[in-house]
Amino acid sequence: MLLTPVVDDDGAPFWEYAARGELRVQCCADCDELRFPPRPCCPHCQSFAAHWRKMSGRGRIWSYVVPHPPLLPAYADLPGYNAIVVELADAPRIRLVGNLVTAADAPLNSVDPERLRIGAPVRAVFHTPPGGTTVPRWVLERP
Ligand SMILES: [Zn+2]
Repeated sequence: MLLTPVVDDDGAPFWEYAARGELRVQCCADCDELRFPPRPCCPHCQSFAAHWRKMSGRGRIWSYVVPHPPLLPAYADLPGYNAIVVELADAPRIRLVGNLVTAADAPLNSVDPERLRIGAPVRAVFHTPPGGTTVPRWVLERP
């Protein structure tokens, strides 16, 4: 089984919105600063008031890796899969880690590693594994 998110109290809304196909980032209700990862207190103004702002789901590849063997057993049949860091278009200081795939439910190694480029525009899609937590994944804007 592939690794799945560990959902904690602060981050639970992120996963609940993802299950509805929405990418949302925690936002301070007092100073309006976005923050990630989720936490109880605003690092800018120390307010505990927060809401979750909907993002466009668009971003760019900020960095990436293609893990090489030895891989964890669940990933051994997925050589060439990638992990990317996406800088959100709506919040350039916020970066999310995920996988670049050809479609929401495509295999983790569905993108040829040769196609990975820093700066490539991507958009979020949502994958729900059987019985699992919905996770955002990323597809190229120009496949
Ligand atoms: Zn604040």
